[in-house]
Amino acid sequence: MEKDELRAVAKEVSACTRCRLCQGRTLAVPGEGPGEASIMLVGEAPGRMEDRSGRPFVGAAGRMLDRALSEAGLRREEVFITSVVKCRPPENREPEEDELEACRRYLERQVDALRPRVVVLLGRVASSAIAGRKGRIQRGPAGRYRGASLFSTYHPAVALHGRPHWLGALSEDLREAALVAAGSG
Ligand code: URA
Ligand code: SF4
Repeated sequence: MEKDELRAVAKEVSACTRCRLCQGRTLAVPGEGPGEASIMLVGEAPGRMEDRSGRPFVGAAGRMLDRALSEAGLRREEVFITSVVKCRPPENREPEEDELEACRRYLERQVDALRPRVVVLLGRVASSAIAGRKGRIQRGPAGRYRGASLFSTYHPAVALHGRPHWLGALSEDLREAALVAAGSG
């Protein structure tokens, strides 16, 4: 059962010591969402609030994400939300290549269990790690990943850094992803 596998992944992640990020974490953040979600959102890494609560996107970036989701006509409860590394890097630095590699298997298992129609990569780090896109973020379709249509878009945190208009772009992209997930894109 897909939900059992998602739970199994979450349990393994919570106790994982495959990379050095286990050393500084309070709680690992496996991700959450319904077992029948057709859209999966993939961020970069947990931040401070996420590390404390064990839940994805509950801090300032999470508020931006909630706004973008609601502008796109989506509710957080209907999407699965996770990130490319499940433990908070020290001082919120970017995940390193070997950490991304060590953690990759968990995202792969989550996608294989959930079988979403669309996987949305939030920001440059996720886009580079999963779609192999280096450099500036290119919005829009990014090929396929384990049976799902892949999209990349901005990370919701960009809207916190003096670029509020990017939030509109993010919600446009989420709306497009939702259309594809509903089979009408
Ligand atoms: N950024 C992420 O990529 N994930 C979170 O959960 C919070 C901030
Ligand atoms: Fe394990 Fe991923 Fe956490 Fe590294 S970041 S310790 S691989 S769960």
